[in-house]
Amino acid sequence: MCDQCKDKAKAWLKGTRNVSFWQKQLQRLIASQAFLQVVHTAHAELRVRERSISDSDILEVILHGDVIHVWNGEMLMFGYVKTAPKTYRPLHVVIRLDALSLIVITAYDPRTQAWKWSQDYRRKVCFLNKKHS
Ligand SMILES: [Zn+2]
Repeated sequence: MCDQCKDKAKAWLKGTRNVSFWQKQLQRLIASQAFLQVVHTAHAELRVRERSISDSDILEVILHGDVIHVWNGEMLMFGYVKTAPKTYRPLHVVIRLDALSLIVITAYDPRTQAWKWSQDYRRKVCFLNKKHS
């Protein structure tokens, strides 16, 4: 872990305390909908396209991934998506739950800023936008 960011990393962990509660809320919303409405914010739409992440990749993570952090109602989800035979890509998807829909705020491959994450991409360890020692 990076020394400079260790206090922030510790504070970030507070958002991991209620993940199982939110995972259940998410499952409940999914189960209650005949058709799950997934809405992208304009930001998400743009970023996701730039990053070549498909809607089905995002849905895969929402349906089968894990809630790893919740802060101010924003849930960070993690999962692997298949990109080719025997090839998987790690993906982070940030969502917010609405009464009837699920709003995608952003999605990205954590490997693009790998220094920010633990080796399994489940814990944030660095908070700077550039890699530092
Ligand atoms: Zn750092």
